[in-house]
Amino acid sequence: MIIETYGPEETKELGEKIGRQARPGQIYTLTGDLGVGKTVFTQGLARGLGIKEPVSSPTFTIVQIYEEGRLPLYHFDVYRIGDVEEMEEIGYDDYFFGNGVCLIEWAELIQELIPEQAIRIRIEKDPPKGFDYRKIIIEGMEKV
Ligand code: ADP
Ligand code: MG
Repeated sequence: MIIETYGPEETKELGEKIGRQARPGQIYTLTGDLGVGKTVFTQGLARGLGIKEPVSSPTFTIVQIYEEGRLPLYHFDVYRIGDVEEMEEIGYDDYFFGNGVCLIEWAELIQELIPEQAIRIRIEKDPPKGFDYRKIIIEGMEKV
């Protein structure tokens, strides 16, 4: 599935729709360059789960936990990870194989840990189409 957005609010709305449909144990991976909109998408998904507190990229921790929504949200940002062993240290499998929703920014850095059934989301820019244009490619989901 490919979706094009023309501003951050549209990307958030897409995330929100997906968040409303999210099921326990679902894992979403997010890839794309710095500043492409991974966290913006996550903010929408959190909104779709009914999370009201502000969501930002976890800077000093690998995972940020939000428990006020319909399902717990485990928001990973593994950009600064040095080694996949750091994932073991935080006990990532409790999150990956639990009943909440996992969303992983920079998932390509821990590729070997990502379960087969994860929904893979890639966000790309296309400068000729404008500063706020984003192409969002979703694998593992037919429609929203
Ligand atoms: P990342 O988490 O991928 O590093 P962020 O989500 O933190 O990126 O930042 C994305 C930036 O791009 C924000 O400043 C946002 O306002 C801007 N932006 C512009 N157009 C879009 C769009 N269509 N979708 C998402 N973000 C957009
Ligand atoms: Mg981010």
